[in-house]
Amino acid sequence: MATLTEAQQKIDHVAALRPSLPFGIDGVVVKVNDAGEQATAGFGSRSPHWAIAFKLPAVERHTVLEDVVWEVGRTGVLAPTAVLAPVEIDGTTVTRATLHNPADIRRRDLHLGDTVAVYKAGDIIPRVQVAVVQLRPAGAQEVPLPTVCPNCGGEIDKRQERWRCAKGTACALPALIEYAAGREMLDIDGLGKTYVKALVDSGAVKDVADLFTLSPDQLTAAAGSAKRAAKLVEQIEAASTRPLSRVFCALGVLGTGRSMSRRIARHFGTMDAIRQADATAMQAVDGIGPEKAPVIVEQVAALALVIDKLAAAGVNMSEPEEQTSATHHGPLADKVVVVTGKMTGPLEGLGRETMNGLIEKAGGRAGSSVSAKTSILVAAPSASGKPSSKAVKAQELGVEVLSPEEFAELMADFLS
Ligand SMILES: [Zn+2]
Repeated sequence: MATLTEAQQKIDHVAALRPSLPFGIDGVVVKVNDAGEQATAGFGSRSPHWAIAFKLPAVERHTVLEDVVWEVGRTGVLAPTAVLAPVEIDGTTVTRATLHNPADIRRRDLHLGDTVAVYKAGDIIPRVQVAVVQLRPAGAQEVPLPTVCPNCGGEIDKRQERWRCAKGTACALPALIEYAAGREMLDIDGLGKTYVKALVDSGAVKDVADLFTLSPDQLTAAAGSAKRAAKLVEQIEAASTRPLSRVFCALGVLGTGRSMSRRIARHFGTMDAIRQADATAMQAVDGIGPEKAPVIVEQVAALALVIDKLAAAGVNMSEPEEQTSATHHGPLADKVVVVTGKMTGPLEGLGRETMNGLIEKAGGRAGSSVSAKTSILVAAPSASGKPSSKAVKAQELGVEVLSPEEFAELMADFLS
C-alpha cells in the first residue's frame, strides 16, 4: 500500500476480522517494509519512526448485573464490585467489574438485573458503563447500598463520595497486620489469622510497629503456648532485618504494592529519603505520575508515628546497596520485561512475583502487557503449541522474544 487511505482500508479490514480471530487484539501496527526506507525514517528515543500502532476502540459488551459486593480496603474504604453474568470480552471471560462509589452507582441508576454495558481496555480491569434502561426487568430494585460496615458491622462515614468505615484503618487492622506479616513483606512465619486477631483484640497490636515490641507474655497469650511464642519471637527478630522495600510495602500505603514498593525503596535507598521526598521528588520513581505522587507523599506523612515506632524498635530502614546500584547497571538496565506462560527449565516453578523481583534485581522493570515500550518478552511455550496473543503482539511490534531458558542464561548471575 502506498497511501494513507490504503493504510486505513487495511486497518479497517483487520478490525473487521477481529471477532473471528482465535486471539485478542487491541490494535494494528502499520510498518514501513523496505529496509532502506526504514533506515531513512530512523529511530526515536522509544520506538522506531517507521512503525506506528493504531489502537482499535476498546471492546464493549452487554451482560447482566447480578449483584454488587462490598469490600473494605486496608484504609477502611468501602469498595463496590459488580458481579456480572459471565461474558467474553476481547478474549477473556469477565465476571466482575469495578464500580466507583455509592454516588456513582446512583448516578448511573444501576438496578440489580439490569443489562449493562461493560467496557474493557487492554489489561485494565473491566468497568461498568451504563444500564440499558429499556431492558430493565419489571420490579427491579436499585442496587442496595450498605447500611453498616460490611467488615465489622460498625457505622459508616458517608461524608465523602467514597464511603469509609468510621473506624478507618482500625476496621481493617487485622487484615493490614496479616498483609504486613505476609511472605512477600515482613515474612513472619507462623503469625497467622488467629494469632493476629488475638493480638488485635487484646489491644497489644494497634499498628504494624507494635509487632516489634510485643513481650513474650503478650505473644504467649495470643499463641496459647510459650513454645509457639518463643518461635514467634525469633521470627519477629528476623523480620526486623528485612530490606526497606518489604518494610515499606508492609506499611500498606495505597497504590504501593510489592513491585512499586521495590521501585520506591531502590530509588530512595532509605526511609528517611522517602519521607523527605515531596510530590516532585516522588515522581522521579518509575511509574509514579503527577496524580499518584501527592497521594503517596501524604500517606507517608500520615504514617509518621508508625514509621518512627518501627525505627525505634530497630527495624531496618534501608535498601541493601546491591539492590539500589543494580537499577542502572544490571543486564536489564532500563529495560521493560514482560513474562507470559508457565516458566520452564532453570526458571521452572517461579511465580510471577518471583520473576518480577528477579527482573528488578537485574535493573529492569516488569511490565504486564506487551506494548511498543516493551524491551523483552519472556514467553513460555503454550500447551497447545500456538503462540500466545502476547507473543503474536511482540512479533508484530518487533519486540525481542526469549524462551525461559534463554532468559535464564541472560540472568545467570542473578539465579542462585
Ligand atoms: Zn468496619
